[in-house]
Amino acid sequence: MWVGVNMQSASYKLGRFLLGRLKHNSSFVKSTLNFVKEKRVTMAVFTVIGAVKKAKLACYDHVKHEYQQIKLDKPLEIASCFGNLSLKDGKPFVHVHAVLSDAAGKTYAGHLINATVFAAELHLQELRGNKLEREYDQTTGLALWEFGERQGKSAKTVRSSRKVGQSRSWLDRA
Ligand code: ZN
Repeated sequence: MWVGVNMQSASYKLGRFLLGRLKHNSSFVKSTLNFVKEKRVTMAVFTVIGAVKKAKLACYDHVKHEYQQIKLDKPLEIASCFGNLSLKDGKPFVHVHAVLSDAAGKTYAGHLINATVFAAELHLQELRGNKLEREYDQTTGLALWEFGERQGKSAKTVRSSRKVGQSRSWLDRA
């Protein structure tokens, strides 16, 4: 629900703290999603350190309401990576931002669309409480967290309330 004038929020309890290692050559996003599905986690915040073989970052165009992609096809360190896990269309959805660095120490940063893992360590804090869903936000064109009375309704209801034109891809709109 809206608290004050400019913030929606809810409070959650801490669940398990999980550590994981992503498989060599795996898709960063797929591996992370497989991990949380296997551990039955639906809400979390997480960090990752490690290295990737290539990556696709993006920056959101506020006027066009679309992501401008940054393709990086070289070995990169995951210098910093922060993400969260919530639900979108009733399914686990990760939103990840990363700062990646190359052999010269040059950094690239942005919304992480995906990456091919060289080696990566995941530190994940599970959160427990009311179900946290993303819903289409007309102002930004993004799928943003929706708190309040909508929170906790069934995935089926959420799906049926989707707006026409909303992207179905995992990689965008967050
Ligand atoms: Zn983002």
